[in-house]
Amino acid sequence: MQVKIQVIVESETGQQLVEEVALLGRKTLSAETLGLSLAEAKEILQHLQAFVVKPQISNHLQEQRHCPNCSAVRSLKGHHTLVCRTVFGKLKFPSPRLRRCGCEQADTRSFSPLALLLPDRISPELSYLESKWASLMSYGLTVDLLAEVLPLGGQINTRSVRRQLQRVAERTERDLGSEEHVYIDGCPRDWGQLPRPGAPITVGIDGGYVRGRQGKSRSEGHFEVIAGKSMADDASKCFAFVSRYDKKPKRRLFEVLKSQGMQMNQQVTFLSDGADNVRSLQCYLNPQAEHILDWFHVTMRLTVMRQTAKGLPLPEDGNGTEDAIKKLESIKWYLWHGNVFRALEKIEFLQMDIEDLDETETQSKLLKALYEFEHYIDANKTFIPNYGDRYRNGERIATGFVESTVNQVISKRFVKKQQMRWTERGAHLLLQVRTKTLNKELRSTFEEWYPGMKEAA
Ligand SMILES: [Zn+2]
Repeated sequence: MQVKIQVIVESETGQQLVEEVALLGRKTLSAETLGLSLAEAKEILQHLQAFVVKPQISNHLQEQRHCPNCSAVRSLKGHHTLVCRTVFGKLKFPSPRLRRCGCEQADTRSFSPLALLLPDRISPELSYLESKWASLMSYGLTVDLLAEVLPLGGQINTRSVRRQLQRVAERTERDLGSEEHVYIDGCPRDWGQLPRPGAPITVGIDGGYVRGRQGKSRSEGHFEVIAGKSMADDASKCFAFVSRYDKKPKRRLFEVLKSQGMQMNQQVTFLSDGADNVRSLQCYLNPQAEHILDWFHVTMRLTVMRQTAKGLPLPEDGNGTEDAIKKLESIKWYLWHGNVFRALEKIEFLQMDIEDLDETETQSKLLKALYEFEHYIDANKTFIPNYGDRYRNGERIATGFVESTVNQVISKRFVKKQQMRWTERGAHLLLQVRTKTLNKELRSTFEEWYPGMKEAA
């Protein structure tokens, strides 16, 4: 049996042209000959598309050949070849350059209609697929996957995929509004008039590190990536950026909150580890915001100091270790109840005790940790609530839920591939597409850019 696939191209004047697309031969039925093979489907689609494209292009050029004002024929200045990558293969066609008519008002005397029509030389659909998959897995795997299932031939490689992803990311960056210091809008009287807001939004912010590439020397070094998750009534969304590279981190976070319907009269709780850059990030985004130092990070530091204290030497007139541990416990107790004043006082007392001990490696290590902890608590004192009360009321006190986000956003795409080193810009741009993909916003972003894509979905 043979199956012949033909297309009928019908022009506007009713002229019909029949062309053969493919001829499928089938003998005995087997599992592998049932229906179409992927190779056949790829070939058919590629051919089929060529038949669609040909009249599309010639019709468009036909229209462009005439001046829109006076219908005079625009004269031909020359040709070059235009290449456009699509989901169904690379298209190559002659692209004429036309001289503008004398009556046209324009900056240029000549133009290429197809070059104007296809400035990116890639179909939005392919751009979407390449950037989406490259945001989820390595550039190499993205190339493998797309080349295997689509008739792309040799037109896709890791470099073109990376460039595509970066172009998409740069466009989303341009779409993002400018950075402001304050995002609070209106005054308390206005906020009172707002409809009843949704449930409180909880935002957790944490950081991770990505292996950096500095210049050509590829010298060692890591840079910080801030990642977080915002949990609202209906859905949670993640965000991420390279802190040293990003010029508008607050705008970024504000837009996430806005997309979740945040109102100025809505309660927003920010939980973070209290690093300086994270502290300033969350301020002035919402008048009802409360900022909380992540209890997990507080206890982690205390646990480390407790471990260190176990190695203290035993002085003859008492037990240094036991005493230090008891004091660390009481520091923890005061912090748990939000009593920063007493906690800081206890930290100072313990510092004095440790200073009095003989100098050893453990002693100076613990002392250093205590000084750092004092600074940490002091810098974050306005972010320390009564954790005990919150806990009893069933309110969040730790960013445990962000850990998985940091993993999902950063580790899975950056850290595991140890041989890969990133530039700050490259990592930042990848993070923008990655968070859009994870938030299921990439497709709608493309649909905003290319409204014609909607029908195709
Ligand atoms: Zn004219």
